[in-house]
Amino acid sequence: MEQKQTINFGAGPAKLPQSVLLQAQKELLNYSGLGISVLEMSHRSADFNKIINKSESLLRELLDIPDNYKVLFLQGGGSGQFSAVPLNLIGLKEDRCADYLVTGTWSAKAAKEAEKYGKVNIVHPKLESYTKIPDPSSWTLNPSASYVYYCCNETVHGVEYNFTPETNGVVLISDMSSNFLSRPIDVSKFGLIFAGAQKNIGSAGVTVVIVREDLLGHALKECPIVLDYKVQAEMNSLYNTPPCFSVYIMRLVLEWIKNNGGSAAMETLNKQKSSMIYEIIDSSNGFYVCPVDPSCRSRMNVPFHVGKKEGDDALEKKFLEGASKRGMISLKGHRSVGGMRTSLYNAVTLEDTAALADYMKVFLKEHQL
Ligand code: PLP
Repeated sequence: MEQKQTINFGAGPAKLPQSVLLQAQKELLNYSGLGISVLEMSHRSADFNKIINKSESLLRELLDIPDNYKVLFLQGGGSGQFSAVPLNLIGLKEDRCADYLVTGTWSAKAAKEAEKYGKVNIVHPKLESYTKIPDPSSWTLNPSASYVYYCCNETVHGVEYNFTPETNGVVLISDMSSNFLSRPIDVSKFGLIFAGAQKNIGSAGVTVVIVREDLLGHALKECPIVLDYKVQAEMNSLYNTPPCFSVYIMRLVLEWIKNNGGSAAMETLNKQKSSMIYEIIDSSNGFYVCPVDPSCRSRMNVPFHVGKKEGDDALEKKFLEGASKRGMISLKGHRSVGGMRTSLYNAVTLEDTAALADYMKVFLKEHQL
């Protein structure tokens, strides 16, 4: 059966809740009776202040963020934070040294960027492939490191931490760009968390940074002022023009998350959705193959090959064509790993996932030898 509606399984920018898009459409030309669009609104206006403050209070509520943390809305994406983190925090201790866990493309890029500003210690033996998280017993953490950094969900490889690394008191930093608000977290365990909005909480352009207050004011003198957490915290993220419309869209998405049960409800749904796909992969007798160790398979991004372990090119092409006929898009894996990848962020519904699961079963029946 062909479906008319398009289902977006993209890794980001990604599907937004329908109700959010409808509200943004409704308010596009005339926001809240003001006669102008948020796109035209001054970031210094009282009305925009209400939008940015509401985004912050929703985030604080949804993640139960303790009072001694600042919430910043910055530009430059997750990649901007790969630089901002060392620029602000590698000087926390004299040695200018930081510990990095490298479990995929994004943490590898972050570590490379940090090398420009200090010493980087990769705390575990180098991985042959990004398909597992090295056992914590094999990590060599440096007690004089300024911080320990990891990427909580590696979007390209589909590797997700289901535990919070133990750092013996050293400041812990996490890139949660692709699993932010997909499950509850204990913010108090972290010195800093950052997340680009374009996967689970909105559109591209704004990056959320949650940072403990005592970590402000340690930036290297080379740190560009727009990336200086202390400056941005003091100015309520308004040192320069913020991505106003992205902050507004984020506010709508956060309201949607709240109205749909918050991060705990998101976690329940995300577990259900990802299990649906992994179960088909695991019961396909090797027709579908997910290379990631079951202990750290991501609930957000599920990479898989079709036909055999390293993927059968012709079958994978056919799989994508068939999916497209059913309105399912953006299932092609990241160019660096090939194969398929389905992203199951918060806005992807159980029904969307069931449609993909149905298709995978039909395709399996038709093509399994
Ligand atoms: N971190 C993670 C986990 C990502 O998935 C991405 C992008 O997909 C980034 C960082 C980089 O984000 P940006 O493209 O916004 O710089």
